[in-house]
Amino acid sequence: MERKQTGNIMTKETKKIKVAFPHMGTISIAWAAALRKVGVEPYIPPYTNKKTLSLGTKNSPEAICLPYKLILGNFIEAIEGGADYVAMITSPGICRLGEYGQNIHKTLQDLGYNANYIELSLYDGIKGLYNFLKELTHKNDPILFMRAINIAIRKVFAIDDLDSALSYYRAREITPGTAEKNYKKAIKLIDKINSTQELKHAYKKALEIIEKTPIDPNREVLNVDITGEIYLVNDDFSNQNIERELGRMGVQTRRSLTVSSFLKDAIIPKAFRKGETHLQRAERLAKPYLMRDIGGDALECVSDVAYANEQHKDGIIHISPFTCMPEIMSQNIFPAMRKDCDIPILTLIMDEQTGRAGYITRLEAFVDLMRRKQRKAKQQSTKQVSAV
Ligand code: SF4
Repeated sequence: MERKQTGNIMTKETKKIKVAFPHMGTISIAWAAALRKVGVEPYIPPYTNKKTLSLGTKNSPEAICLPYKLILGNFIEAIEGGADYVAMITSPGICRLGEYGQNIHKTLQDLGYNANYIELSLYDGIKGLYNFLKELTHKNDPILFMRAINIAIRKVFAIDDLDSALSYYRAREITPGTAEKNYKKAIKLIDKINSTQELKHAYKKALEIIEKTPIDPNREVLNVDITGEIYLVNDDFSNQNIERELGRMGVQTRRSLTVSSFLKDAIIPKAFRKGETHLQRAERLAKPYLMRDIGGDALECVSDVAYANEQHKDGIIHISPFTCMPEIMSQNIFPAMRKDCDIPILTLIMDEQTGRAGYITRLEAFVDLMRRKQRKAKQQSTKQVSAV
């Protein structure tokens, strides 16, 4: 059937349009579920890889931040692969994210890609998601749209929980790679599900699969929080799979910034939230060092250091893209926090030039430092007990 170019994105007579979003970790599983629910075909571009990076870098301003380059690369690969629409997440934020959408759209046009471009304003909460689905499907079906939003949100929460389980098992696994192999099977189960009723059961099964990983429960494991710019924290390719590397060194990680914590603050209505959200905690804990939102995730990052210290974590790693202004600011605040926070902090700045060998060496040195600190603390507490 022919697709009508009537201005309606999808009409009854049209074939199913293919819509692609950029990658960020495993987020494609959630948006694909929402699109399927409303009768749109998700087009999943190849997971971000070296070719994506090179396509993005070649067609981007040199000093723009790494997520921009990767998103542009994802869109080029999606259009070349057959996507009819590319969907961009926008925000009116203080940092460059507010300019991303228009720049990417213009670049795609200049490169001669005529795929349709559509924006999703996430910062408008549920309304933004609803309007996006309405524009995409040219329907106005509140029940269907709420179901689509609901399954996407629930998948995000389920995957974030499975990520935590992966981190626990990976730091203790007997045979390297087993936890991740099981995690991949678990994620496939979540991806297949199309209803929230089935999701509960699938999540239980997925967790059981990860829990089958044989572990050494007595291993001396370090606990480290990962904070920074949200894209880099949650995207394995752009952070060079930092959590896998740390897991291999016996470190259990916890992402301070997750998609589910973002959803709690930006999308889920107050009446449905439980406890303090990440942003509320950020406003409380960042106050002595940073009084207001300066864009990106800087406020959250500053507070995450204070929180990790409060939780007696062994260390915290801050990852940011080269030239990201908000994170340059937060990194400059960390030294002032040292008088109150006795926690090792490692800051990593990533771009397309970041070499793997030097990066791993820095991680190993940081893990070494934390281990020595942990052992010293244990020795001191043993001495105190024997003195009593
Ligand atoms: S937070 Fe930083 S990396 Fe993210 S869009 Fe803004 S400037 Fe770029």
